[in-house]
Amino acid sequence: MEGYSFELITGPMSCGKTEELLRRIRRCIIAKKKVKVISPDVDTRAKGDYIESRNGLWLDAIKVKHSMQILSAVKDAEVVAIDELQFFDSNIVKVITQLMNEGKKIIGTGLELDFKAEPFGSMPELMCIATKVDKLHAVCMKCGCEHATRTQRLIDGKPADKSSPLIMIGGDETYEARCIKCYELPDIQGKKKSLGLKLLNFSKD
Ligand SMILES: [Zn+2]
Repeated sequence: MEGYSFELITGPMSCGKTEELLRRIRRCIIAKKKVKVISPDVDTRAKGDYIESRNGLWLDAIKVKHSMQILSAVKDAEVVAIDELQFFDSNIVKVITQLMNEGKKIIGTGLELDFKAEPFGSMPELMCIATKVDKLHAVCMKCGCEHATRTQRLIDGKPADKSSPLIMIGGDETYEARCIKCYELPDIQGKKKSLGLKLLNFSKD
């Protein structure tokens, strides 16, 4: 049980989560730890078995479809890095708890909110069991402020509405980091706009 920990790095799209993960992994490699990197099979951002951050750094990663597969994949590792945690099935919480019980150091990244500004996958539970949580902010792509906490989905350049599916892989959609003021979530086809403040339980009208 020597020094188990679970460090979770979270925030919106383009806040530097994967860059920060790679920075921490490099330090573990310098310390001569046995490191294994895991990424979910749904993520099409990286081509092949490695993860790539937006500044071009990359690292070999094992692609995993079901979270239970992580246990056998990282048996001999001292440090387990997991990218894009929001995409894993709900067993990911048990899997990470077990890895902590085995005394491993886990470093993970994940989007805390989906494009509808609702908690993404198992991220709420993972934030609870983490021994350290870092919330990174991005630069808002609309107003340029440094407090972007939301991920805006755009389809043909327009904000996607509430009926858009949670996960779109390989579609024509793009994503932008936005601050709470610039974030938009149209109800239906852009007719009615909401600021996505549902979680705060008040309406603008
Ligand atoms: Zn803004």
